[in-house]
Amino acid sequence: RPVPVITIDGPSGSGKGTVAALLAAKLGWNFLDSGALYRLLAFAARNHGVDLTNEEALKVLAAHLDVQFGAAKDGSGMEIVLEGEEVTTAIRNEQVGAGASQVAALPVVREALLQRQKAFREPPGLVADGRDMGTVVFPDAPLKIFLTASAEERARRRYLQLKGKGDDVNLASLLDEIRVRDERDTQREVAPLKPADDAIQLDSTDLSIEQVLERILSEVARKD
Ligand code: C5P
Repeated sequence: RPVPVITIDGPSGSGKGTVAALLAAKLGWNFLDSGALYRLLAFAARNHGVDLTNEEALKVLAAHLDVQFGAAKDGSGMEIVLEGEEVTTAIRNEQVGAGASQVAALPVVREALLQRQKAFREPPGLVADGRDMGTVVFPDAPLKIFLTASAEERARRRYLQLKGKGDDVNLASLLDEIRVRDERDTQREVAPLKPADDAIQLDSTDLSIEQVLERILSEVARKD
């Protein structure tokens, strides 16, 4: 029997990252934050002075990306170490996100990161968070969720999140950035952001994280 996978795809700010991590913890399953891989590549490219349009160099960098995902020593969740450097929060800003979206549009990069993503599928199960988990990376996943929310609501969430970290942010420019990123993620040739044919679509605009989690858990129960 293949190791079960729950895929959670959707645009940034839909709440999928938080929900996916909570779901994985609740089920005691492994967790793949695929967006982090694209962010790590963009981050590593900057460290190495590799231009984000240099496909050959990005391909090599992606194939050799030295990264470890582990439990944080203080128990606060996932810790990400890139080439020996702890980068868990450093990869979470808008600049790295924009770079990630840029490298993610390159087929050679997606191909280079494919096996690395599939390798997360280990017993007892995997919750995979991204844009193309249900369409490309785990097309045979028995449960696929496509989580959305209005652009305005996603910008508002992002605003509160960054504000909470003490960042100096502007709601209107965040909304602009979200729209640009949505456009690039949905319009690109390879693995565009779109629901798999067999995905369950959930709109989280008016739902709390707990409510979204509850709905997904009820789908999990229906599958069992
Ligand atoms: O989810 P997150 O915001 O961390 O993802 C950063 C960027 O990586 C996205 O805007 C998207 O362009 C890209 N990405 C992707 N495929 C995935 C996950 C993320 O193209 N499976």
